Formats: sequence, C-alpha cells, structure tokens
Amino acid sequence: MILEDDATDPNKILPVEYDWAREYYRAGVNNNWVPEEIPMGEDVAQWNGDALTDAERQLVEWNLGFFSTAESLTANNLVLAIYEYVTNPECRQYLLRQAYEEAIHTDTFIYCCDSLGFEPEYLYGMYDRIPAIAEKDAFVVDLTQSILDDEFTLDTDRDVRSLLRDLVGFYVVMEGIFFYAGFAMMLGLKRRNKMVGIGQQFEYIMRDESVHLAFGVDLVRTIRQEHPTVWTDDFGAEIAALVEDAVELEQQYAREACPDEILGMGPEQFAEYVEYVADRRLGQLDLPETYGTDNPFPWMSEATDLNKETNFFEKQVTEYQSGGSLDW
Ligand code: FE
Ligand code: MN
Repeated sequence: MILEDDATDPNKILPVEYDWAREYYRAGVNNNWVPEEIPMGEDVAQWNGDALTDAERQLVEWNLGFFSTAESLTANNLVLAIYEYVTNPECRQYLLRQAYEEAIHTDTFIYCCDSLGFEPEYLYGMYDRIPAIAEKDAFVVDLTQSILDDEFTLDTDRDVRSLLRDLVGFYVVMEGIFFYAGFAMMLGLKRRNKMVGIGQQFEYIMRDESVHLAFGVDLVRTIRQEHPTVWTDDFGAEIAALVEDAVELEQQYAREACPDEILGMGPEQFAEYVEYVADRRLGQLDLPETYGTDNPFPWMSEATDLNKETNFFEKQVTEYQSGGSLDW
C-alpha cells in the first residue's frame, strides 16, 4: 500500500511496486536546472530603467511576493505533513526529489530578489501584507491542520480523507491552480520581451510544477483505489467545493494584481483562465467540470500544454530532454 501499513518496509525500494512513481523521479532528474543558468542583466536594466509601466511592475512584484513564500510553504508541507504518511519507498524517493526542486524554486526567488535589489522584508512580507496573497496561503495551510496534529493517525476513513484533503490542497489547489494566474502573467510579460529572465525562470518552475501536479494526482488516485470506501459522493462534492473556493481566491488575486488591461491581458481574462485551469483539475480528479470556460490564453497551452499532465507517459520520452534546456 502507498500509505503506511505493516507490510511496507520504507527502506526497501526494490522490487518497485509503483512504476509511475519511478517515472516521475526520472522525469524530475531530466528536468534539472538551477536559477543561476539564466542571465538577469537585461531584467535588471529594464527594472532600473523606464521599460516597464507601473502596472507591469506591480505584476512582477505581486508574483515575486506570492511565489517567494509559497515555494517554502509547499516544501514544508511535503516534508512535515505528507512524507510521514506516504511510506512507500519509491513514492518517498519522488517526494525527496520534489522537495529538492522546491528548494531550487526557493533559491530562484532569492536570486530574483538579489538581482533586482529588493529589500527582503518588502518582498517576503507581501504574504502578510497583501490580503489576496495571505488568503491563498491560509486556505492551503488550513487543510493541513488536522494531519499536523500530534495525535493524528491514519486509522479510519475519516483520517484518510484528512490526508486526501491536504494532498488536494497542496498538489491540485496550490501547485495546480494558485500558481497559474501568476504563470500566465509572467509568461505574458516575457512574450512581449519584458523581464525575460524572470519569465524563463517561471517557465522552468512551471515545467517542474506540472510534474509535481501529475504525481499528486496519481497519488490521490492510488489512495482512492487502495481505500475504496473513502471517496464517497459527499467527499467528492466537498472536494469540488474546495476547488470552487480556490477559484474565487485566485480570481481575486488576479483582479488585484492586474486591475487594468496590460499587454492584451486583463482581469476578466485571468478570471476565465483560472476557470479553464480548474476544469482541467476537476477532470483529473474524476469530478465533473464546473465552468466550461474556454482558454483565453491559447499561447499558455503552447507553453504548458496542459495535456502533457494527463498524457505524461506517452509524451515524456520526447518532450523531457536531459539537462537544463527548455524544450517543450
Ligand atoms: Fe515549486
Ligand atoms: Mn512544486
């Protein structure tokens, strides 16, 4: 079983029981990169010069402010909440790989903060200061409360549901919805040759996150199969409601980060994009789609090809090349 049980020895990875977990591990290794590979000279010149409007600068600041702390939040949840209960050794091997990638992402925002000369307190304080950011973080942290309780054990269906709520909260909501308005904003700037270094860092992060999300979805799917009485209709409805609440928070974030149209991207389009992404996520959880909204940013599909997440195994051999190069 993928969750702790008497038959699992977490130290004995061979023979492998879940081949997909090993595939994700190898995909992660093939995607290896570090932020210092990306030159920031042009970004620094734009940031210190007059290449950006105030609205464009706000987009950059909000997304650096959100991601700089969200990456650490995800890493901490992985290590402190999830790792303890997912005892299958090949899944743990992937969790360690993912934790390393989150450290790379954390490092990316240190690198951006240093390069652009931000006051650390200013950037890293945004998650306390800006309600639309604070509410997203609080939303996913709340879902972890029960399993971080010292008394928590995985005995009953109710306990497994608490763990599933955390997994959906961090993999599907945080990495799969709360990151995506920001991805679209920063890639949108990059398409217009604004802050291309940061844009490229976001592309690398997005590539990593699409693998994290795909692993998380398979983890949820396997736990459901192995604990068939856990995912009731009521629980499915609860998860769908969770996703809908997350959509509202992400739309609010997008509206406040980008209140007016910038480079052909406006608050309404971001709201639509979040709905489009959320429908894909609901589908990945075998739940009915809620919104039926078209993708307002078709260029994001070229960049991310959200299908890659579901068709991951068919595509990864050609699309996930070795080394740090970004080759969609
Ligand atoms: Fe990350
Ligand atoms: Mn991640």
